[in-house]
This record gives sequence, C-alpha cells and structure tokens, in this order.
Amino acid sequence: MKQPFVAPKGTPLSSDFQGGPAPILSSPSIALPQKDGISFAASSVPQTENTIPSSVSPSPPSEDSSLTALSQEAHRLRQEFPLLRANPQLAYLDNAATTQKPQVVLEAETAFYSEACANVHRAIYSLGEAATEQYEAARRRVAAFIGVRPEEVIFTRGTTEGFNLLAHSLGELLAPGDEIILSEMEHHANIVPWQLLAQRRGVVLRFIPLTDEGLLDLAAYEKLLSPRTRLVSVTLVSNVLGTINPVSRIGELAHEAGALLAVDAAQAAPIMKLDVPTLGADFLAFSGHKMYGPFGIGVLYGRQELLEKLPPFLGGGDMIREVRLDGFTPAEPPYKFEAGTPPISQAVALATAIEWLDRHGPDRFGHYEALLGKRLYEGLRTIPGVRILGPDYSTLHRSSFKRAGIVSFTLEGIHAHDLSAYLDTKGFALRAGHHCAHPLARRFGVVSSLRASFGAYNTIEEVDALLEALEAAREEL
Ligand code: PLP
Repeated sequence: MKQPFVAPKGTPLSSDFQGGPAPILSSPSIALPQKDGISFAASSVPQTENTIPSSVSPSPPSEDSSLTALSQEAHRLRQEFPLLRANPQLAYLDNAATTQKPQVVLEAETAFYSEACANVHRAIYSLGEAATEQYEAARRRVAAFIGVRPEEVIFTRGTTEGFNLLAHSLGELLAPGDEIILSEMEHHANIVPWQLLAQRRGVVLRFIPLTDEGLLDLAAYEKLLSPRTRLVSVTLVSNVLGTINPVSRIGELAHEAGALLAVDAAQAAPIMKLDVPTLGADFLAFSGHKMYGPFGIGVLYGRQELLEKLPPFLGGGDMIREVRLDGFTPAEPPYKFEAGTPPISQAVALATAIEWLDRHGPDRFGHYEALLGKRLYEGLRTIPGVRILGPDYSTLHRSSFKRAGIVSFTLEGIHAHDLSAYLDTKGFALRAGHHCAHPLARRFGVVSSLRASFGAYNTIEEVDALLEALEAAREEL
C-alpha cells in the first residue's frame, strides 16, 4: 500500500499510563445550603423502547449481501471527502476520535465566511441579521435532528464542554451527600467534571460496574439507585468496547427513583437516529466533529423546565438580559448558557453535516459500520494471541445490549503503540492507547489497546487488509 502519511516520530513504544485520579470520593462534605427549585422527579416524556435500530443487531440472514452492497456505496461515498480522495490508499479507522469531513461541510463553513460573516445577536444591519439567521437556523436543524425544541439546544465546544457545563450548573443545585451514578465504561469527559463537582460540593459518585463481557451490570445498577440519587449519567455507545447500552431502560429506572438521566451521545450521534423523547434523556451531549461536522462545536440538550432552573455556567456578553453594577439578570435558555461570541461558522457547518447525515440515514451508517465491525471481530478471533475487548456476538442476542462498529483489541507480545506505528507504515490509521477511559482500561487489566472504529466511508477491503496486516505484524514484530 502507498504510504499516505509519515508515521509520527517519537511515538512512545511502550509507554504506560500513570497513576489515576486522586481519591476524591472520600472528600470531606462541605456544608453548603441546598438550593431548591429543581425537581429531580421523572420527566413527563413518554418512556418507550430503546431507540437503537434493530438493524444494528448482528446476524440478519442477508448480512453478507447487505455488507457487499453497502461497501460498494462506501467506495462512492469516499469521493465526497477531499482528504480521502487525495489519499485513496489511506484506511482511516479512527472515526471514534474524529470523522473526516465531506466537501459540503467544508464549503458550508467557507460560504459563511465569504457571504455572511458578522457577529450574531447584536447587529441591526442586514449582514449581522443574516449571520444571526444562519446561526439560529442551525439550532433549529439540530433540534429537529434530535426531536426537541430549539430553546433546548445549547451550542458548546463539544461533549466535554457539555458535561462541564452540566456538572457546574446542575452541581450548584446539589447538596453534600447527593449521589450521581456514572459507569465504569465512561469517557473521561463524563467522569472528571463530576469528580471536580464531588470535590467542590461533597456530592458522592457511584459507578455501575461492568461484566467481564463489557456490558453494564444492570442488576448492580438497580442496587445503586437510592432516594439520594439525583442524576444518572451514562454513555449510549462505549468509545472503547463498542457496547450500545439500553439507555431508555436505564432512564426509566432512574426516573422511577426520582433521578434525572444524562446521556453521552458522542459516539451515538453519527450512527443512529437520536430521538431524545424516545430515549427519555433529560440531558444529552454530543460533538460535531465526530459526526462529519467541524471541530469546535457541540450540543448540550437540556429539558426546558430544567434549563430554566439551572444557573448559568460562564458569564459575559450574550448570556444576560441586563447588567447592573450590583448584579445581572440572565437571558432565557439557551442564551443563558452561551456566553460570548459562539462558534457561529461551526454551527452553520454542523447543520450541513446533519443534513448530509440525514440524507444518508445515520441508522444506515450504524448498520453498515456494525457489519464491518463484526467482520473484523470474526477475523480477529482467528488470529492467535488476539484479545478482543467488549461483548461477544454470540451472547448479545440474549441481552438488551448491542454492538457498534468499534473494536478494541490487544495482540499478545506486541505493545499496541508498536502495532499502531507498524500499521501506519502500511497505510492504516488506528488509535492505540487507553482511549480516554482509564477506569475501563484498568477494569480489563489493559494498559493500551488498539482500536478500529469505522465510518461511513470504510470498506470491506480495508477490514480484510487490516486482518492481513495484523497477521504480518505477528511475523515481523
Ligand atoms: N464521550 C465519548 C463517548 C467520546 O468518545 C468522546 C471523545 O472521544 C467524548 C465524550 C469527548 O468528546 P470531545 O473531545 O469532542 O469533547
């Protein structure tokens, strides 16, 4: 294969991750008065089945023919991506980190700068109004994509900022001893903001343990719920294990216990139709750059009644109705949470990415990528010394969990970083490391794993070539 990129020099070949978060869960309780005015009771949203399309389930009878047809389409789709067009031999398999961007998205961002560049929400002149209209149209587009009202869509810099906003604002309403349930499979973005909150306010964090298979232990989860639980915050799709969690059910149980549900949809947004009312989420966060959109933009959804009660996160222009020398009156949501000049061109380009995704159908991509993941999984099982993290397909049909097109694994005797550097020389871009999930890595006793995460433009040929390259690596490394 042609080498599209030079392997980064100085890649650590046997680095380890050090230490871990300080033991903050035993931080002293700080006696802060509990503010009221927020109800942690279940949302009025109807709770129904999980929104995961059944097509993500493995083993439909026509799996092979469906995979072949979709792979032919993926070859055509690659042409819409300038970076892939310029590097036809590149097997970009790091889509969980970020996806490549289609031409239409790049053009949308450029067009904003060439045709409508002005700041939003402040100008009376027509260029400023055009910019505001494009920004607010983007908000309406996002709202329609996830089935909510535009007032419930807060633009952020990404999932990480979404959780920091939530932990900060919701945290102001929590009292020492209140409990938040997370899981052991969370990305650091859905752990560290809560740990900072625990340090600040004496809130107690509890973690849903994982089964050896890489599923949430739902029986243990039920036992963790208590009258002190205020929030359950879990990922819909694990960025390491590929596990798709039954979030609707998790939310039902949270709501029955009087707690709220926050969902990390960073990995879910590009692969499934995210219908917030069906999911039953009170809050939900995702990032534009993982769903074929630009960097620097993300979304935090919050149920309107809750957003009205939450205090602002950052202060500054745009988030206020009035400022006096002795205080200020915040604007209505979502503006209350958008201090300063927002990511305007990025919001406009995100709306284009969403239109692009909707045109193709995120469920269809999810189905296809899950099939690619399954092909890789099955191939990996035939390679001696491979250990795959995450659920085994043979047991999934008996559970409410599913598996997405993300496959993490180790190869005995070869450090994942060495393997990644080797694969890079063969034209494959795969991430090696802990994937921003130290507790998960520790749970499975893995210092570093290699992760293949698929996107809409990956092909069967790339999967098969990767399997061959891994066989070769066993001989050569
Ligand atoms: N949550 C999950 C499941 C992720 O995979 C990621 C990124 O990999 C994040 C949160 C953080 O996203 P961002 O870095 O875009 O804020």
